[in-house]
Amino acid sequence: MTQKATAVEGWVELTCAFCQGRGRDPFGLLSALSTCGACRGAGKVQVKEPHTPCRACGGSGIQPFTRLTCLGCDGKGVQTIQEPTEACPVCKGTGFDGLHLYCLRCHGAGVIIAKAADS
Ligand SMILES: [Zn+2]
Ligand SMILES: [Zn+2]
Ligand SMILES: [Zn+2]
Repeated sequence: MTQKATAVEGWVELTCAFCQGRGRDPFGLLSALSTCGACRGAGKVQVKEPHTPCRACGGSGIQPFTRLTCLGCDGKGVQTIQEPTEACPVCKGTGFDGLHLYCLRCHGAGVIIAKAADS
């Protein structure tokens, strides 16, 4: 890993999809006052740009058929995918590979980083 440290630039603050900004677990699994697991109660999440809606949860941040945060986006409802992007070849952009809760190739985003075009 030789990633350079990136500046705070490029990050945006979005309303937490999982709790819709309320900061509480929308399902109140432990208690009605449980803190939202996606934003830790802040009601906002930090997302690095460029981001794309998470297909695995339809942008809701909720893992389908469960009351847990989406595994693809951690409850944020969006995922960061560096541009240029292309449709995921495994799930064809749906975010589901038919075997798992979300497509493992694209993490449920439906898109992946496009490979450099052949010249
Ligand atoms: Zn939240
Ligand atoms: Zn998601
Ligand atoms: Zn995929």
